[in-house]
Amino acid sequence: MTSSESKRYSDFIRDIITGDLVAGKNNSRVHTRFPPEPNGYLHIGHAKSICLNFGIAAEFGGLCNLRFDDTNPVKEEVEYVESIIEDVRWLGFDWGDRLCYASDYFEQMYQYAVELIKMGKAYICDLSADEIREYRGTLIEPGKESPYRNRSVEVNLDLFSRMRTGEFPDGSRTLRAKIDMSSGNINMRDPVIYRILHARHHRTGNTWCVYPMYDFAHCISDSVERITHSICTLEFEDHRPLYDWFLYQLNIYHPQQIEFARLNLSYTVLSKRKLVELVEGGYVIGWDDPRMPTIAGLRRRGFTTESVVNFCERIGVAKRDSIVDIALLEHCLREDLNKRAPRIMAVLRPLRVVIVNYPEDKTEELDAINNPEDQGMGTRKVPFSRVLYIERDDFREDPPKEFFRLAPGREVRLRYAYYIRCAEVIKDNKTGEIIELRCTYDPQTRGGDSSDRRKVKATLHWVSAKHAIEAEVRLYDHLFLKADPNEVEESKDFKSNINPKSMGALNSCRVEPSLANAKPDSRYQFERLGYFCVDPDSSKNKLVFNRTVTLRDTWAKIEKKQKIGS
Ligand code: ATP
Ligand code: MG
Repeated sequence: MTSSESKRYSDFIRDIITGDLVAGKNNSRVHTRFPPEPNGYLHIGHAKSICLNFGIAAEFGGLCNLRFDDTNPVKEEVEYVESIIEDVRWLGFDWGDRLCYASDYFEQMYQYAVELIKMGKAYICDLSADEIREYRGTLIEPGKESPYRNRSVEVNLDLFSRMRTGEFPDGSRTLRAKIDMSSGNINMRDPVIYRILHARHHRTGNTWCVYPMYDFAHCISDSVERITHSICTLEFEDHRPLYDWFLYQLNIYHPQQIEFARLNLSYTVLSKRKLVELVEGGYVIGWDDPRMPTIAGLRRRGFTTESVVNFCERIGVAKRDSIVDIALLEHCLREDLNKRAPRIMAVLRPLRVVIVNYPEDKTEELDAINNPEDQGMGTRKVPFSRVLYIERDDFREDPPKEFFRLAPGREVRLRYAYYIRCAEVIKDNKTGEIIELRCTYDPQTRGGDSSDRRKVKATLHWVSAKHAIEAEVRLYDHLFLKADPNEVEESKDFKSNINPKSMGALNSCRVEPSLANAKPDSRYQFERLGYFCVDPDSSKNKLVFNRTVTLRDTWAKIEKKQKIGS
């Protein structure tokens, strides 16, 4: 699908919802939710879920809640809550006044648990976590019933209320659902519903020392919020019978859980546990490290909201796991930046060029086009003078056959300026390094065109030495060496696949003076080099850029090949 096609997506989830609307189910309401656990920053996989949940609500005239699934106080933090709110907003979605927290329903959940006990559907178990695991059985062996399974309702109620008041230490008891220890689905073998945890919660403080487990909290939160379609990832397929069991036993409003395949992306990891490891272990600079697949990282790297949302729409929704090529994400980004990013000239590895026949103190203001894709973006003036910088890579003393750029005796075009010819190469006496080129220019070629239509084979970008601004440019590559970072030798883990050259910095780059007041978050195409954005580390005294993405579009090539092949 291309971005120009109409914005009506079709997939199995939208088909289910359309069917429900036709049948008049839920009084024809559509109400979804995005339920992150605030135990890390959001990543591009979450963006897929956000676009799906908020997108469906918008398409069907429904609502979508942002709900924090904050049931594990040990791993959750306010910093994460705030970052999640910021990131969902950045993606362009709005939850109105429906910012919800599972912790708001703790009392309600507790009362539902009491009801289950009263119905004889839940009991207090004194087995330790290890014992519970032992008793649980395996995929091929049934589990064993807990010796505490047949406690009376009275005893269970008494113990549960004493658990709540803090009488017992962590891990000494749990509340478990009484379902079926021989069920083929291990999730149904008397799962734990509540555990004792004397831990301060970022919202409820010390009110609670028992906390509900995910499976119990999630279906109740969905029910309380009257969610119609509870969309989650495939790993919860085996939990659906439990989701349904709780709501059925409690006889309360019953949303429909629907699972889809999570996003996996090549050359990165999309598991919060692993991302936390990278941050806490100092393998990256932070959650917003521009190499991270987090929304904060992508934003700092220079991604636009539109490119991320467009990517999420293009990959679509399916029921089978797969790995999406990161080149597609980069392709969506280039496509968007191509339309909106102004072109400028910058030199990353400067080589000094002196135009020997150009007057010492003359400066000319030459016209340059801001974006050939969009005439409306206008033109600007670029100063030209006797001493310039060009890219070191654009000159070869001994040019190989396919090298058409500058070389001794050869003539090239300087973009928007003049034709120049290399007359002399100046080297450092000691090191032999090339430190300067002496060139002549042809005054008849102003603007970059020769009146006699003589051909040159290359057009180079350049900056005027005395006008250019010094800048630091940070370059990035994939964070991992392997397309699947989880593919590791025995005894090693995914971190052994980290790309040691995933970040580099160039400190004496030069950019044209029109960028003097460039603000953090602005994005540019540096002609011939790629797309770059201003990093928040940038200050009045020092401009810092991130390379967002190069110009080479490997995805476009893949698509072309596929077309030829098909
Ligand atoms: P972990 O990475 O530790 O498994 P999580 O990704 O499940 O955690 P949550 O905060 O529970 O973290 O996720 C919030 C929502 O985002 C869930 O509905 C989850 O299914 C969805 N989600 C998480 N990862 C992906 C992914 N890679 N692709 C699509 N949806 C995802
Ligand atoms: Mg989860």
